[in-house]
Amino acid sequence: IIRVRDAQKSFGTLRVIDGLSFDVRKGEKLALIGPSGSGKTTILRMLMTLEALSGGRIEVCGEPLFHMQKNGAEVAADEAHLHKMRRHIGMVFQHFNLFPHKSVLDNITLAPILTTGEKRPAAEARARELLEMVGLADKADAMPSQLSGGQKQRVAIARALALRPEIMLFDEVTSALDPELVEEVLEVMKRLASETDMTMLLVTHEMGFAREFADRVLFFDRGRICEEGPPDEIFSNPVQDRTRTFLRKII
Ligand code: ATP
Repeated sequence: IIRVRDAQKSFGTLRVIDGLSFDVRKGEKLALIGPSGSGKTTILRMLMTLEALSGGRIEVCGEPLFHMQKNGAEVAADEAHLHKMRRHIGMVFQHFNLFPHKSVLDNITLAPILTTGEKRPAAEARARELLEMVGLADKADAMPSQLSGGQKQRVAIARALALRPEIMLFDEVTSALDPELVEEVLEVMKRLASETDMTMLLVTHEMGFAREFADRVLFFDRGRICEEGPPDEIFSNPVQDRTRTFLRKII
């Protein structure tokens, strides 16, 4: 469902992604781990088209993300193509970015109503189902300021799901939370993983969760994948020295 080939990304002279290639199968749960600055967030942001690609190619659901066909030739994607491709993907960030002056329900229904033209009653019914799934059925009319960090993050997950993406990206979604609120957010993600066949990519520093959640772990180092494999192999028996050093420091 995702194919990354020789992806490159530089900010000025800083090369952040350096010849990165990997595939993700539909339904796969992937954890991206690695040292700070190794490019994990950048690759999620590129998949979300929040950052352009400096070189190489990314395909999502069988179509190039940053390229399109025009008059038989492949050219850089225009805004309409990016908009269409973005529909495949939902993203949840470290900071929840809820609209502070809108109720929980409005936060979730706004995008479906505005961007896909869904009718309000249908959007609200779906939002209530999603709130039920994240355990916040009773908070539909609350304002974000009345919620804890963990609750806000669960609303942010429901909001991303409201657009019915096939792929969900999670970028360190628990790292801004107080420790006692982490578990409730991880529970929601576990439920999503076990109850749906959604493709999920997760950047995390929670190694215990990565191990439990992921089908496959990618260890990033300096803008490339240094090692990849099933969580048991990566965490118990890493082959690369850099992976070992990283895990020794973090666990
Ligand atoms: P962390 O775990 O700290 O989030 P990461 O692996 O997700 O790290 P990225 O956030 O992808 O790393 O960042 C990779 C590098 O790119 C960092 O050195 C960062 O400073 C740099 N970088 C990211 N975004 C920009 C930007 N918009 N302009 C300039 N440099 C950037």
